[in-house]
Amino acid sequence: MKKLQYLFVFLCVTLAQAQTFIPAYGARVSQVSQSNINSGLQDFVSFGTKTTGSTNNANALNWLKSKYAAFGYSTSQVIEHPFNIGSVTSKNLEVTKTGTLYPNTFVLVIAHFDTINGVGANDNGSGTNALLEMARIMKDVPTEYSIKFIHFSGEEQGLYGSQHYVNNVVNATSPKMNIRLVFNLDQVGGTSGQTHNTIFCEQDTNNSPAANNASSASVTQQLKNCVALYSTLQTNTGVAPAYSSDYIPFQNNGEVITGLYEGYGDNNPYPHTSGDIIANMDPVFLFNVTKAALGAVQHFAIASTTLSVSEPGVEHAASDWTVYPNPARDYFEIKASGSESGKMTFELTDMSGKSVLRVQDSKKIDVSGIPTGVYVGKLQTDGQSSSKKIMIKR
Ligand SMILES: [Zn+2]
Repeated sequence: MKKLQYLFVFLCVTLAQAQTFIPAYGARVSQVSQSNINSGLQDFVSFGTKTTGSTNNANALNWLKSKYAAFGYSTSQVIEHPFNIGSVTSKNLEVTKTGTLYPNTFVLVIAHFDTINGVGANDNGSGTNALLEMARIMKDVPTEYSIKFIHFSGEEQGLYGSQHYVNNVVNATSPKMNIRLVFNLDQVGGTSGQTHNTIFCEQDTNNSPAANNASSASVTQQLKNCVALYSTLQTNTGVAPAYSSDYIPFQNNGEVITGLYEGYGDNNPYPHTSGDIIANMDPVFLFNVTKAALGAVQHFAIASTTLSVSEPGVEHAASDWTVYPNPARDYFEIKASGSESGKMTFELTDMSGKSVLRVQDSKKIDVSGIPTGVYVGKLQTDGQSSSKKIMIKR
């Protein structure tokens, strides 16, 4: 539901806090899988136009439920919230992961899954699949604050699903739900054939109420810092006002909001049309946005800064492959066991999370052009990936 151009308000926001790269966060970010995102987008568009209340919309909700079940979330963690728009019924899906220190304070990570006039690959298959990929990776990661991943319906007709949630879930208890912040992802898929290196971090500029604006500015600055630390993307330099998406009912309720948006306004002709298909978006941009968002979710919910053995693909797969020599000088070889026939992607990122090398189906890696230092190597095979430290020394 994004069809306005941004007005840039060049306010000086000087709320930068000390935020440094946390290696465990970076290791989880490196678990974000392009192939998962691509197959998720294909599933999403396969349901057709998911107008609120339609069978396609209900089928997409069931698909979301099946994804969370496959990730290992229990049925008690996954709650459907039905609501009506006139005579039409649809459902939001709320998935809760309980925090270790502050179980009753919630970081809400939200994206709508209903579409209008088309299959909605970008608007909002992009945000939907970013949430899924983050929820998959965070499944067994302890966080101090509780996280709710919420998939809203009814967004395109006027934010009905999120408004229903605020009225009937957030405000249904006394005291109301304690929300640390609301992090919205809507239309973060870009346009094919264009260079996307910037993601907009949106903040609350609405003055009814105004009391939550400063907190929104603060968390949005933290979001920008996370984008810089955990992805290759840049952020908007001015203020990107939050508008026309599911964070708005929360802002009206006085909550602290922030969001990610591709930020190209009317320059993207596809959303809300039959042209909003995967071929017209940029799945690599979505991959990078998901990395940035996962860094931010870990920061906002204060994730564990040590990797646990139960985290898939981290400790476990580290024993499944090695590089030789390590430290390396001008090249090294990957020695991986199993899945020799499968497609293999290797990526090297520096300790700030920036990608410096990416190769496919090659086991001899030339690093002669890469500066001396410590890097994180990520090997991806058959949809699984794992990371380990690699040193380059001359
Ligand atoms: Zn949207």
